[in-house]
Parts: sequence; structure tokens; C-alpha cells
Amino acid sequence: MTQRPLAPASLAAQGLGWIEPTTKAIVSPIHVSSTFLRDDDNQFRSGRVYARADNPTFDQAEATVTALEHGVAGLVFASGMAAATACFQALEPGHHVIAPTVMYWALRNWLATFATRWGLAVSFVDTTDLAAVASAVQPGRTKLIWLETPANPLWHVSDIESVAAIAHRAGARLVVDSTVAAAVFTRPLDLGADVVMHAATKYLNGHSDLVAGMLVTARDDDFWQRLRTIRAQIGGVLGSFEAWLLMRGLRTLFPRIRWAAHSAHSLADRLAAHPAVAEVLYPGLPNCLGHEVARRQMRGGFGAMLSIRIRGGESAAIATAARVELWKRATSLGGVESLIEHRASIEGSGSPCPPDLLRLSVGIEDSDDLFADLDQALLAAQS
Ligand code: PLP
Repeated sequence: MTQRPLAPASLAAQGLGWIEPTTKAIVSPIHVSSTFLRDDDNQFRSGRVYARADNPTFDQAEATVTALEHGVAGLVFASGMAAATACFQALEPGHHVIAPTVMYWALRNWLATFATRWGLAVSFVDTTDLAAVASAVQPGRTKLIWLETPANPLWHVSDIESVAAIAHRAGARLVVDSTVAAAVFTRPLDLGADVVMHAATKYLNGHSDLVAGMLVTARDDDFWQRLRTIRAQIGGVLGSFEAWLLMRGLRTLFPRIRWAAHSAHSLADRLAAHPAVAEVLYPGLPNCLGHEVARRQMRGGFGAMLSIRIRGGESAAIATAARVELWKRATSLGGVESLIEHRASIEGSGSPCPPDLLRLSVGIEDSDDLFADLDQALLAAQS
């Protein structure tokens, strides 16, 4: 065996090479027990007490994503939202947080309503604008900056390294929702982020058959211990079967997303020249806000999410989505099947999403088939 460190794709394919010690199985078992035996002297030397805190079926997926993200520990949650909201629940009333104007709409909505009612002060800022981020900092009060990059649904890219420096100068933490970079194209912890978050529902699992979240930390500090406690006490935990499915999905993460990102880039190029398309939003295209940052901070591809703005406005966009056959009209992203969605309908008022925008989650189908289906739908919707 060579001494060269294994590439991330190899680590993921074998789930870090874990072998079940009793049977030598190369696929880890599903543990369903909710509780664990005490030793006869009343200790828990197994390290496990109760499955809300210590489910062994979480271990391999947590360890694998932690390795991919170059972190020191990971926590799987029952959804991406459970993982994300835990980061804000770990703060104190009166603390101030900065979040992007362009971000996953449900989290933005939660921050603007629930989190605010619970005493957090929230400033929404264009996080691609470093001066705007710096001037939103409230010295002594800002405790967390949240980034999402590339950001739903306009795929703006924010500069993680520079925002981390702003956060740390202010004594705040930086947490990055890296769902779309998927632990493959960007490593936020290497760029200075303190915690990275994933909606594992998306690429990490990749098969649209579970809902899960993941946090990975750069340091096992008091903030991380709070997050661990929040998961155990509030009880937003994943089921054992879903944790096992997540690990199964993770094994194929690299080939799935590399293929999909390659198709997405080629679709972005072809759609940019399409007569029915007014604009293509994709981090790999020079017109996307943050493209120069993306070229530095994304390695090996620009992801598999893009959006298109349709000539003819909202009605033409909805008519296009109505006419596709291979693409599936559904919310979500990151699965092997390609999805199309009129985002403004789902995001509602207050969303920065233009009404003529269709969001495309590119899967692993043949990209010529995907283009042909969109092409016929785009042309039919214009006539
Ligand atoms: N973050 C991003 C970027 C998302 O796209 C989503 C879901 O679409 C979430 C977070 C929330 O994840 P979940 O649906 O698993 O709660």
C-alpha cells in the first residue's frame, strides 16, 4: 500500500474503509437499539447510553463527512433545517447575527420570524459585498455570520476566507451552508469557517429518499458542545434506517456530483445561447455574481445547480416548466434525477427571486437528453 494519502473520492467510496469487526462485513449494520447496557459497576464503558444522543448508526456518515470537510467532528440531524437552526439556538438572546439576502428561503423566513421572536437580532446583507458585511458587524454583539455559497436560487458566491476574517476580527463565528458545494467542490473549514452545514437530504444522500442534515466543526469547543447538547436535548435526530441510507448515498457522492456538475456546466453554456432564455445564473459563468471568487474557492467544478430566466416573464417560465417531460417538476435538489422549479411560487413575498426564474437541479441523466427536453419546452412555451 502506498503512503500517499487517499483522495476524498476514495474515502467516500469506502466510507473510510470501515469493516464491521465481528462479521467482517464491508457494509456497516443498522443499529436499531434505543438503549445500551450498563456495566455491572454502573458505568457505560461502551460510551453509549441512549440512542437520542449516541446512535451508532450515525458514526460512519458523521466520520466520512468530517473527513471530507477536514473537520474534527460531525453531527447528523433529522433535517438540514434542524442542523441550521441548532446553530442559532446555540446563541443567547440579544446576540446579533448576519445572514445573506440570498439564501435558502425557509431558513431566511425562520430567522426573520422565529429567531427574532426568540431574541436574536438578524441583519440580512449582500454577503458577496465584503464592505457591506463588515459594516453590518455590531462590535461585541455580533456572534455569528451565516453564509450560503453558492446561494439559492441565484447561485451567488461569497468569499468564505474574507468573511471568516471579518467574523473572527469581531469575535464572531462563521457557519457556512455548503449544501451546493457538497463537500466536494469547496472546503469551508480550510478557508477559515468554524462550522460547515449541509442539507444532507441533497447531494450527500443523492437519491431523494431521505431528509437529513449535517454539521462539521473545525474545533471541539464550547459552541460545538452546545450543538451536541441541543441535538440530544431537543431531540432532532435522524432514524437509524435513514442514517444507514445516507451512508449508502455518500459512497457514490463523487461520481454522481462530478457527472452532474459537468452536465450542468455544458447546459449552462448551451442555454446561454438559447433564444428563449434571457439569462443563465451559474457560478461557472462569468456573469454570475462572485464568479471570480468561485474560480478560487471551488475546485473541480462549479456544482450542478443553475437557474434560467425566461423571456416572456413569469407566465412563460411556468409554461416552460409545464411542458418538460424528462425533467421533473418538484422542489428540492441534489438527487440523481433532474428537477425543475418555478422558485418565486414557493418562496413567496420577500424573496429576491425574480418571477421569470426556473431553478434547475441537474441529475445524472444524459445531458443531451436534458437539453433536448428543455429546448422543446422552452420553444413550445414561447409560441
Ligand atoms: N440549505 C439549503 C441550501 C437547502 O437547499 C435546503 C433545502 O432545500 C436546506 C438548507 C434545508 O434542508 P432540509 O430540507 O433537509 O431541511
